[in-house]
This record gives sequence, C-alpha cells and structure tokens, in this order.
Amino acid sequence: MITRFAPSPTGPLHLGHAFSALKAQDMAAEAQGQFLLRMDDIDASRARPEWDAQIQDDLRWLGVTWHGRIWRQSAKLALYQSALHRLSVRGLLYPCSCSRRDIEAAASAPQEGDGIAAKPRFGPDGRIYPGTCRGRPMASQLPGDAIRLDLSKALPPEPLAFTETGPAHAGRHIVTAKHLLEQIGDPVLARPNLPASYHLSVVIDDATQRVSDVVRGEDLFEATFLHRYLQYLLSLPTPRYHHHRLIRDEDGKRLAKRDDARAIATYRADGASPADVREMAGL
Ligand code: GLU
Repeated sequence: MITRFAPSPTGPLHLGHAFSALKAQDMAAEAQGQFLLRMDDIDASRARPEWDAQIQDDLRWLGVTWHGRIWRQSAKLALYQSALHRLSVRGLLYPCSCSRRDIEAAASAPQEGDGIAAKPRFGPDGRIYPGTCRGRPMASQLPGDAIRLDLSKALPPEPLAFTETGPAHAGRHIVTAKHLLEQIGDPVLARPNLPASYHLSVVIDDATQRVSDVVRGEDLFEATFLHRYLQYLLSLPTPRYHHHRLIRDEDGKRLAKRDDARAIATYRADGASPADVREMAGL
C-alpha cells in the first residue's frame, strides 16, 4: 500500500490536515506500506516556501514521517505539459475566454423553447460549463485564455469504475458518459498562471508516485468521478480511494485555512502534545 498526503503550502497546517495526514500514515503503517508527502505548490501565486517549511515542521512534530523525498509539483511541470500536449494533439482541448460572470450569465439564460431560466448546476469543477467556447481551435488561444477539455469528444465507450473504501461511500462507483456530461462538464485543465489544474496534476502525480490508496477529505468524493475519467483519457492506473470525514468546528462548519485558531502551530504554542492533537482529531 502506498498512501500520500498532499497539502497546498498556501497556509498553516490545521487540525483537518493533521487528521488527513495521520489517517493516511496510519493506513500505510497498518498495511506495512509507504506513506509519501507531496506539496501541491503548482499555484505559484499562492504557494510560499515558509508554509512548505512550517507544514513539514508541524508534521514531524506530530510524528508523521514520509518515505523518500518530497514531491513538489513546481518541479514536475514537464509531466503536466506533456499530458496537455498529448490531449491537444488528439484535438480534445480548446481555449476558453469565459470569465466566471460570462459562465453565470450563459448558464442562467433561458433555454431555447421553454423560456425558463435553467437551474444552476455545479460540479467538482465549479459551475458546469455551458460550452460557449467549445469548438474553438487551439490556434485561436489568446494570452488570457484557460484551456478546457472537450468531454464530448472522448467519452468512454464503457462505463468506468473506481473503488471507494471510505466510510460514507464504500463500494464500487460507476462513471458513465451521462454523468460526465451532466454532472461535470468541460473542466479547465490549465490557466494562464496555472500550468495544470488540480484535477489534471493530481491524477498524474498519484500515478507517477504509484499511490495505491488516495486518502483525502470527503469534499473531494465528487471530484473522483472526473479523476477516474482523466485516468482513462491519459491511460493512467486507478488507485483505490478513501474519502474520510471532515473535521468541523463547533458550528459544524468546515475548517478553513484562515482559521488560525486550529492551526497546529497554535496548539503547539498553547502547550498541546501530539497525542492531544490526535485525540482532538478523533483518532
Ligand atoms: N492539495 C489538495 C488539497 O489540499 C489535495 C487534495 C487531494 O488529496 O487530492 O485539497
């Protein structure tokens, strides 16, 4: 078994992250496997070396130790570029100049015939893209354009499947062409300042690092349907998935990065022990 923890070094490690890292490490340890650390630092406008260092320090303090060297996305850009190139050559990509507001407007415009504004639909990549720029050739790409994947051009002939071992959705899940078109829509794979989107980089990283079990928060369960599809398109292996519960605050809200009260560094400064943090996370 190979598991991993993949924080974005854009803020402090908080209790929710600690839970995820400990869970992934515990699962690997139980199976006498390996636990890896990856820094999702592809977004150069937000990732900071100080956070990278602080996250490592907090993890070590928690007793989390990782196998081998840290995988940093910023050092792997060639991998993502090569995948984008392969998809582009197959004619599956198109440039998109739609702003968020354009997408809102197009998605809520009355549909032809019924005169009723369409219900807003959201997928793991935000609002489901209405397809305005579909069909634009890559040669028409402008400096500010995002790159989208045209799902309709490469739908899987057979439904795809993945296995989930987490408590909320345990079992086998099927990804159909209908699901992709209706619940996901054409995802962004790259942006002017983002060499690869999360969805693209995560499937490439997990495959290249030979991750056998992806352990992460339940908020990413829906995204797994898109990840399974990207694995199919790029001929990458499909790991097992384990989506764990999220750590919430007293009001039941998810912990946010800016919620410094639950930063591990704050607990440390207040004199908590690693065992206390484990207990607070319910482990
Ligand atoms: N950097 C991502 C996050 O923190 C990783 C998600 C994943 O584990 O796939 O949400």
